[in-house]
Amino acid sequence: MEHALYRKTGDWFHKLQKFPGALLDENGYVVFETQQAFETCSWLHIKQDVNVPNGGIKRIPGYVWVKDDAVFLPKTTSYEKELINEGARSEIILSRPERDSRLRAECILHHGLSCLVCGFNFEKFYGVIGSRFIHVHHITPLSEGEYKVNPITDMVPLCPNCHAMVHKRTPPFTVEELKVFIKESKKNKKFSVDYLWNGVRS
Ligand SMILES: [Zn+2]
Ligand SMILES: [Zn+2]
Repeated sequence: MEHALYRKTGDWFHKLQKFPGALLDENGYVVFETQQAFETCSWLHIKQDVNVPNGGIKRIPGYVWVKDDAVFLPKTTSYEKELINEGARSEIILSRPERDSRLRAECILHHGLSCLVCGFNFEKFYGVIGSRFIHVHHITPLSEGEYKVNPITDMVPLCPNCHAMVHKRTPPFTVEELKVFIKESKKNKKFSVDYLWNGVRS
């Protein structure tokens, strides 16, 4: 993704400058692969800025809803406010839950909805009820105070199984470490299956 713009309500944005680009709101995003796709999208009123009437970008075909209730996010007691400078025109103040859904959307926009460790994809396996479902894991546990989260480098989509496994240790195992565990386990399984099979035959 070359350019992404966020607005909680999904109704006003600056113009996308680079493509593929994405517009995000608090629940999801819509991707425009090319400048032409962006400029000819009939759901957008593009002038100085971009207005998306009738409920914002969530009405646009291809909008991906990423928010769900099963988001594992570290609890924090601090009430955090983040000022997002939207240029000269306006500023948005995001409280923590709003910020988290934005970070989740940006993480999924970049990494996709498949588990980064095992590749499990809920929609592929479960069909429509699995669509948009994935846990999002913070690689670096959040601590109180100043910590700027980068949704691409600090967060990863994980299936609930792999998510539980990375948290078997504190600090959590990394994606690469868990992949090694799985690889070793498969090797051993192959060995024991061969062993059993040969044992049965002899
Ligand atoms: Zn997994
Ligand atoms: Zn986690």
